[in-house]
Amino acid sequence: MIPFNKPYAPDHISMSVAKKILKAPLGDETQHHLTVDALRVNHGILSDRQVVFTQSATQALEIMALCMDLNAHDEIIMPSFTYAATANAFARTGARIVFADIDPYTLNISSETVAPLITKHTRAIIPIHYGGISADLDGLIKLIKGSEIRLLEDAAHGIGANYKGKALGTIGSMGCLSFHHTKNITAGGSGGALIYESFWHERVQACLYQGTNRSAFLDGKVPVYHWEQLGGEFLMTYYHQLFLEKALPDLDWVTNRRLKISNDFFNFLTSDYIFDEHITFQKTVEGANGNGHIFPIILRDETLKRDLMTYLKANGIHAFTHYEPLHMSRAGRKYGDTRVSLESTERIGSRLLRLPLYATLTDSEVEKILEHLKLFLKGRC
Ligand SMILES: *Cc1c(COP(=O)(O)O)cnc(C)c1O
Repeated sequence: MIPFNKPYAPDHISMSVAKKILKAPLGDETQHHLTVDALRVNHGILSDRQVVFTQSATQALEIMALCMDLNAHDEIIMPSFTYAATANAFARTGARIVFADIDPYTLNISSETVAPLITKHTRAIIPIHYGGISADLDGLIKLIKGSEIRLLEDAAHGIGANYKGKALGTIGSMGCLSFHHTKNITAGGSGGALIYESFWHERVQACLYQGTNRSAFLDGKVPVYHWEQLGGEFLMTYYHQLFLEKALPDLDWVTNRRLKISNDFFNFLTSDYIFDEHITFQKTVEGANGNGHIFPIILRDETLKRDLMTYLKANGIHAFTHYEPLHMSRAGRKYGDTRVSLESTERIGSRLLRLPLYATLTDSEVEKILEHLKLFLKGRC
């Protein structure tokens, strides 16, 4: 059986980490700095950005929403073609979610799909960089230039990927990465990172300390600390930070292996005319360098997608669909506004299939997947 995903757990981690975990004192700040350094070096985060590790990307998004101090008049523009986590963090504050359509080629929101949705209530635009392939960020940045609207990146797919040389999640005012076990690098189950401009530092610190100014107190700036805003308990444990520190140096290897497999898929599927009429692919915007997080194929129609998924499963290959568009869901209708046609989101949402893709997928497994795709599609001609 070829599963859809295998979490990446480096062989070298087991003993060294287990030993350190037994010895590491909890609350050891040095571990935090080591893991931040590993992320700075391997993902490429410049020194003008701050980093905190959270228990999930969801929590990093929640901190962003708290920092923005949103109310019911505020509007947040995001794709409908995303995970509920993107919307939950912001909907919870009472702000309205405004759904933008994706570009049918890049599968990301773009300046063209976002522009008609901007109003005087818009506070932020949130691209998700589908599959680790950056949205057209220059276009989005141009759109909000000179306004108070923030670019916030849900870069949950984006570890190891960049846009014009800048690591994903580090380009907007705030951004998040995910280390959930389904992502390219995991912190050992779950985990996330919040990356932000210094502008947000006090508010982020307040969120991390239950909305108090404890951080100023620890720095000796105030004699006592008070509850000043909403906050929570968000920090990643030092155990998980240790695991992540040991996994991050493998990022290049993991990314290259995933890209190699993606290229093999792509080259095979574009080498034979029989595929042309059935399958299209995600396109990369200029300057985007992906990380092979997902290999999506877009089938001609929904029936073909369903039949292919069933056929692959019967042959021991797990391929999966992806996001059910949020605007069509019950909560999406309640917390979100659909003000324009989301035609591409609906069409692609119903026809997209993700092939198995993980760093330890072997060449012979890749061949098996491709042979079965060919057999199935030949039968459909
Ligand atoms: C995985 C994912 C998240 C949530 O990440 P967690 O670390 O599991 O909280 C958010 N947004 C997108 C687009 C994701 O794929």
